[in-house]
Amino acid sequence: MNHRAPLNVSGVKAATSRSPAQRLADELARQGITHPDVLRVMGQLERHRFVDGAFHARAYEPQSALPIGFAQTISQPAVVALMTQTLLEGKRHARVLEVGTGSGYQTAVLAQLCDTVFTVERVRALSEQARSRLSGMGFRNVHFGYADGSQGWLPYAPYDGILVTAAGAEVPEALLKQLAPHGRLVMPVGTPGQQVLRVVDKRITRYSVQDIAQVSFVPLLGGKA
Ligand code: SAH
Repeated sequence: MNHRAPLNVSGVKAATSRSPAQRLADELARQGITHPDVLRVMGQLERHRFVDGAFHARAYEPQSALPIGFAQTISQPAVVALMTQTLLEGKRHARVLEVGTGSGYQTAVLAQLCDTVFTVERVRALSEQARSRLSGMGFRNVHFGYADGSQGWLPYAPYDGILVTAAGAEVPEALLKQLAPHGRLVMPVGTPGQQVLRVVDKRITRYSVQDIAQVSFVPLLGGKA
């Protein structure tokens, strides 16, 4: 009778006990994400819950932007991590506006790092789906708006941080106006194939602007659908 070498049980456990989300966070750290809270939150959040069953197998790939219907995509984990890290950069933001709720994945990351998240989506079905998904997951500090977010969300302004998850030709003036003094906005800007991630800091008398990465986002559209 053949006897296989006994399994090193503790070694096997160590290799498999990291969840898919934790392994994703490990990979994000290898790719240069350094913010410990972003890595912790993304290492615990089950991204497969934000996509259709057909895409579950790819949900934890760092560079996977997957379809969520209505010609939209869930943002790549690597980009969610970079945008969140850039938005927070050492500060805990009390109030954050997200434009482009989509699946609600980025919303769920922000909701664990900020006191209150206001998130606006122009596709009604996506907004409603994200609302019921996040409330089912126990989130209580997220306000969902069905509106054209390129106009911001005036009743709750100003915001310490604004994160836009769809690309515009420019940063809309309305968003800059709704940013609190010392607030930060992060948004992809440009045309398809030619987008940069823009970071705008509101100072006392002026804005400071930096472009930090090449990115690829669906377009920021006007009106509601
Ligand atoms: N953060 C989302 C990204 C979804 S893609 C996620 O990770 O799932 C971008 C989203 O922005 C889409 O759902 C799209 O419908 C929405 N969007 C585009 N233009 C918009 C606008 N003017 N106002 C609000 N949402 C907009």
